[in-house]
Amino acid sequence: MKRSVTDYPLAGKRVFVRVDFNVPLEAGEVADDMRIRAALPTIAYLRQQGCSLVLASHLGRPKGQVVEGLRLAPVARRLATLVGDEVQSVRDCVGPEVEAAARALGQGSMLLLENVRFHAEETANDPVFAAKLASLAEVFVNDAFGAAHRAHASTEGIAHCLPAVAGLLMTRELEMLGRLLGDPARPFVVVLGGAKVSDKIGVIRKMLDVADEVLIGGAMCFPLLKAQGHGVGTSLVEAGTEQVAADVLAAAAVASGRFVLPQDVVVAAEAVAGAAAETVSADAMPAGKMGLDIGSLTARDYAARITAARTVFWNGPMGLFEVDDFAAGTRAVAAAVAGCPGVSVVGGGDTVSAVRRFGAEDRITHVSTGGGASMVFLEGKVLPGVAALMEKEQG
Ligand code: ADP
Ligand code: MG
Repeated sequence: MKRSVTDYPLAGKRVFVRVDFNVPLEAGEVADDMRIRAALPTIAYLRQQGCSLVLASHLGRPKGQVVEGLRLAPVARRLATLVGDEVQSVRDCVGPEVEAAARALGQGSMLLLENVRFHAEETANDPVFAAKLASLAEVFVNDAFGAAHRAHASTEGIAHCLPAVAGLLMTRELEMLGRLLGDPARPFVVVLGGAKVSDKIGVIRKMLDVADEVLIGGAMCFPLLKAQGHGVGTSLVEAGTEQVAADVLAAAAVASGRFVLPQDVVVAAEAVAGAAAETVSADAMPAGKMGLDIGSLTARDYAARITAARTVFWNGPMGLFEVDDFAAGTRAVAAAVAGCPGVSVVGGGDTVSAVRRFGAEDRITHVSTGGGASMVFLEGKVLPGVAALMEKEQG
C-alpha cells in the first residue's frame, strides 16, 4: 500500500501536486472539466491542512517546445471557478520567477505551473529538471493517475527528491483497480472492446487469468473471428495482428468457456448513419460489408452475464457507438454495467465518453480517469509514477 496524503503530516507545508489536467480545449476554453473535478477532493483536503499548493500538469504533446495553444491558463481559470477562489498562474514551470511565486504562496493558496511538457526534460525524466521542480516545495503529492504509467520528471523523477505520497484520486484508483486484480467478488465479468486488439492484448491475457468470464466486442473481435477461420468482410482488422489474435485464441483455449466472442454482428456496407444495416451470425458475415456493432442476441447475452456479476470491469465500446445506428450494443452494455448490483468499474477514454453519453456514469462504482494508465495497471504491470511513492508504514 502506498502512503497517501491522509497518512503523512502535511499541515502548513508547501506541496507540489502533480495533477492530470490534460483536458480537451475548444476555442481557448476547457471543453470538458472531468479531470479537473476529479482532483478537487485532494486540492480541498490539502487546503484544509493549511498547505500552499504548487500544481503541475502536462497538456497535450508540445514535444519540449512552447506551444501557445497548449498553455494552462484556461485550466487555471476553470479551476478558479470550480474552487471559487483565486488560482495564480505563471508562464513557465521552473526558473527564478516561478521560484519566487512559489515562495510567496500563503496558506491555502494555489499556483498552477505552466505545461511541464514545454521542456523536453520532462518526458526525458531529466534528474536536474526533476530537482528544479522539487525545489518549489517540501512534499510531493501525486494525484495524476492518468499519467502514472509514464516515468517523467514530474511523475517519477521528482518522487526521488521529496517525500512522495499519493493524492486521494490516485489512492482511490489504485484501490478500485487493485481490487479487480486482488480479490474481486465473484463472478467477476470483464467486457473488452474498442478498436485495437494489439493495444489490449496484455489486458486480455491478464483478465483470462483473473476473471470468470471475458466478453469480447467492438472491432477487436474481427481479428479473432478471422483467426478462427471466419470471413469478416470489410470489417476493421488491424494490420499485422494475425499473431496477436492467434496468441489470444491459444490463451482462450486454455481458459475454455470463459472467453466469449459475439454470436451475431450488425453489418453495413459503410460506416455512416443511414447505411442499410442488418444483423448476421458472426460466423456468416457477408463479403463487402463491415461489422459495426454486436448484434442484439449478443447484447442480450452480455447484459445478462453482466447483471449476474458481483464485479464487472468494462473497457472498450462494443461498436461504432458515435453513430447512433451502431450504438445499441454499447448502450445495452452501459445500461447493464450501470444496473449491476455488484462493484462496477469502467476505464478507457472512449468508454467513459460512451458511459456519459448514455447517462450511466452516476450508477457506476468507479469511472477511472486513466485510460492508458488503467490498461497498464490491469496488465499487472508496475506504474512508475506509483512505484516511486512511499510505502505505508506497516503495523
Ligand atoms: P477506449 O478509449 O475506451 O480504450 P478504444 O480507443 O480502444 O476505447 O476504442 C474506441 C473506438 O473504437 C471508438 O471510437 C469506436 O467507435 C471504435 N469501434 C468499436 N467497435 C468498432 C467497429 N466495429 N468498427 C469501427 N470502430 C469501432
Ligand atoms: Mg480510445
